[in-house]
Amino acid sequence: MTTTRKRILVVEDNEDNRRILVFRLRKIGDFEIVEANNGAEALAAFREHPPDLVFMDLKMPVMDGWEATRRIRESESGRRVPIVAITAQAMAGDEQQALAQGCDDYLAKPVVDASLVRAKVERFLGPS
Ligand SMILES: [Mg+2]
Repeated sequence: MTTTRKRILVVEDNEDNRRILVFRLRKIGDFEIVEANNGAEALAAFREHPPDLVFMDLKMPVMDGWEATRRIRESESGRRVPIVAITAQAMAGDEQQALAQGCDDYLAKPVVDASLVRAKVERFLGPS
């Protein structure tokens, strides 16, 4: 039996935050995880390794998550891919703005709650 591993793109400029999220995802299932440090890297990764799900930090250098999300949504292959915004708790209003600007869901930092990460993954990829 062959199975196709789902691919998850994790975009986050803060290395500690990125590692925590990747660690959580690896506990949840056997995903192929691609990491990016900023929106520009995310777009390159998106083209090269089209993901099944994206976690997108909003505040990043070079290109922020808002712009990267907008550009992904403009592309043919990026219209329907689920994008979960990673929002900072201090930034009130980012959650609703993320949904309004093309994200499907959001996850508040710090990402400490493993069951919450699992819930987001299962919402878009199904149970693992
Ligand atoms: Mg950031």
